[in-house]
Amino acid sequence: MAELTFTYGTMAAGKSTLALQLCWQLRQGRGDVALWTFGDRSDDGMVTSRIGIEARAEAIEPGSDLGPHVEQLRERHVHILVIDEAQFASVEQIDALARVVDDLGIDVHAFGLSADFLLNLFPGSARLFAISDWSHELPLTSTCWCGQKGRCNARVVNGIVAREGSQFFTGDVNEGVVHYQVLCRPHYRSGQLGNEV
Ligand SMILES: [Zn+2]
Repeated sequence: MAELTFTYGTMAAGKSTLALQLCWQLRQGRGDVALWTFGDRSDDGMVTSRIGIEARAEAIEPGSDLGPHVEQLRERHVHILVIDEAQFASVEQIDALARVVDDLGIDVHAFGLSADFLLNLFPGSARLFAISDWSHELPLTSTCWCGQKGRCNARVVNGIVAREGSQFFTGDVNEGVVHYQVLCRPHYRSGQLGNEV
């Protein structure tokens, strides 16, 4: 029986690195492993990791029809599908992935964030929690600047922790200088981003 596996974690916890490592290990000696991403950081059909490794991936538009991509899996006789940035997949796309597992017998390993910067589950991740055969938290965790385990992916806009905004940041320049920082719960709540007061 093929299985649907969801591996989740915070930002900078090594999700992409682990997805790439799994893909590389599986590809030793076999050509039936595919790599997809729902959020292409390099914008070039690549999965890239913060530690500098990368691999060519099929970039899937969030919310799009997976039909043509699934057809390619069948044509290429893929048996294992590794997916990065699965949190950006829509609920319908996750359900389509479940059919890939159940009807085509393809093992799917999905990697993604669980929650957004407001600490709400991404719809795709919530669906994965609901229907995956296995859900694992990444063994590596990110730490807050204070040294505590970081649970919260804070969106920082012009130096301030954002308390509202779109789940899917579009890169609108009007929003100012934006970055993401992993914080522990108390520092997410207080909005303190470092030692300096
Ligand atoms: Zn902290």
